[in-house]
Amino acid sequence: MTESTVRIGVILPEVFGTYGDGGNATVLAKRMEWRGIASEIVSIGLAEPVPSDLDIYLIGGGEDGTQTLAVEHLQKFPGLQQAANGSASVLAVCAGLQILGEWYEDANGNRVEGVGALDVRTTMGERCVGELVSTPMVPGLSDLLTGFENHAGSTQLGPDARPFGHVLRGRGNDVGDPLGDGAVQGNIFSTYMHGPVLARNPQVADFLIQRAIGVDSLEPLALPDVDRFRDERLEAAEITG
Ligand code: GLN
Repeated sequence: MTESTVRIGVILPEVFGTYGDGGNATVLAKRMEWRGIASEIVSIGLAEPVPSDLDIYLIGGGEDGTQTLAVEHLQKFPGLQQAANGSASVLAVCAGLQILGEWYEDANGNRVEGVGALDVRTTMGERCVGELVSTPMVPGLSDLLTGFENHAGSTQLGPDARPFGHVLRGRGNDVGDPLGDGAVQGNIFSTYMHGPVLARNPQVADFLIQRAIGVDSLEPLALPDVDRFRDERLEAAEITG
């Protein structure tokens, strides 16, 4: 490992492994490897403190009960919050988005205090399951965002957060007019999209890599399988290109 190695943190894979979002780390590492950029995946488990010196932090989706364990861990070891206040990027998916907020309701409707890094609040409502497509609202992203959602939480954004995308298909945050998906605040990017989201949306993966290495663009990668996968999922959501 050298100074320039991009370090990707996978937060609590034992809690956030339910929806396969750990694949986001593999996508980042592979897209860097194919361009000759050194990277390292660092898994941070419940037995370890969260370091504050990583470049990209990934939090995935999880189950209602266990996501509370993660809040306690991140409150006790605030390395992610410290890094996000510096220059590191965070990508949080579903339960990851909910726990970074001010509070969320658990499956019994009890309010649980979140990490407080995102100006969002999540209540429990009707379960939303299916394809989710949105128009990105983040400067630098232009391709439609595609993912799969499976959550009962409805997330309301406060004035310090803005949606990651405007929903074209599915429910996303399940609140707002227009309906938004996810929340962006400072260096934290969050969404309800599983897939994994970076496998379906290579532009978002490259956006995170660019931020990590401080460049405005990257050498394009020709990956016809990824293009076909995207087209197929957009078609499944009845979006035609
Ligand atoms: N427990 C949350 C919900 O159902 C998160 C689910 C998820 O991460 N997919 O809203």
